[in-house]
Amino acid sequence: MILQADPGRSFAARKAEIRAAVERVLDSGWYILGNENRFFEEKFAAYNDSPYCIGVANGTDAVEIILRALDIGPGDLVATVGNTAVATVSAIERTGAGVRFADIESGRFTMSPDSLKSLLDAEKNIKAVVVVHLFGAPADMEKIINVADEYKIPVIEDCAQAHGAMYHGRKCGSIGIAGSFSFYPTKNLGALGDGGAVITSNRDLYEKMAALRQYGWVKRYISEFSGINSRLDEMQAAILSVKLPFLDEANAGRRAIAAKYREAFCHIPGIILPEEPDNCQHVYHQFVIRVQNGKRDELAVFLKNSGIGTAVHYPEPIPCQKAYQHVPATVALNHTLTVNDEILSLPMYPELSGCEVERIISAVRGFFA
Ligand SMILES: *Cc1c(COP(=O)(O)O)cnc(C)c1O
Repeated sequence: MILQADPGRSFAARKAEIRAAVERVLDSGWYILGNENRFFEEKFAAYNDSPYCIGVANGTDAVEIILRALDIGPGDLVATVGNTAVATVSAIERTGAGVRFADIESGRFTMSPDSLKSLLDAEKNIKAVVVVHLFGAPADMEKIINVADEYKIPVIEDCAQAHGAMYHGRKCGSIGIAGSFSFYPTKNLGALGDGGAVITSNRDLYEKMAALRQYGWVKRYISEFSGINSRLDEMQAAILSVKLPFLDEANAGRRAIAAKYREAFCHIPGIILPEEPDNCQHVYHQFVIRVQNGKRDELAVFLKNSGIGTAVHYPEPIPCQKAYQHVPATVALNHTLTVNDEILSLPMYPELSGCEVERIISAVRGFFA
């Protein structure tokens, strides 16, 4: 069986170095917020061309910490999209703020600047925008920031699926006021447990976020405001420092697989390929095809019977989910809803072998033959 995602293979590829890093932490006698975390923060900031990075416990906390540092809370609204990990929305609501959904562009699956404009026109209380670079595709940041600037509100980048992605020559996460990352094991840069980070070039925001991550402490045991406990532990930081130097290579591997999929499927009527936005580097956290004519589920079953795992990211748009029925539908979400019945994520990770990719390609071709 070729799994749709297979984080065990990412560990297997660097087993000896990871074991050595874990041993080092075990022997150090220091397990939370020490040298490993500081070292990783420095390297990850540099990787993203960003002056400041803070390691946190997971990607959900990362979004929450940025929003809270911007003083967003009860009585405020935050705009995002309805086709993201529930985590994005959960983080917004945990600040006490309400969420509102903008529609997406169906080609790249990311926030539509026009829809955002309609939303900001209609909802005067929106205080921030959380853009999601979904599946590794950079959102149209220039247009989105132009719209947000008109309303004088900050844009936050949820980069949980976009480590290393580039937009017009800049790293995703370094374009808006701050960027959040998740190191969940299947992400492009994955820990062997939970982990996350925030990056920013704003010093005041950095200091506030660093305090928020640990009870609002400015000095040990002394809180200046109420914070949370969200720390990246030394073990995960050490593991991430082993993997970070190979992130570009891993992303190149994903892109090479994506190129093979594209070449193989571009002439199949019934498949719409994911857009590669101009002047961007897509990092293919997922390779998501759109299957036309109501055949998505049939293709998924066919592939499963051929020993190939697939997934749907995500099976139900957030605005349709039971937990979010309280969110008013301010603008139409036509593209969010249309693509939802068509999307299918094929296996995508750099450890997939050439033979496996060929097997996947011939199975998909076989279905449409
Ligand atoms: C994975 C993910 C998150 C949440 O990250 P966790 O580390 O699981 O909390 C947030 N946003 C997006 C878009 C994600 O894919």
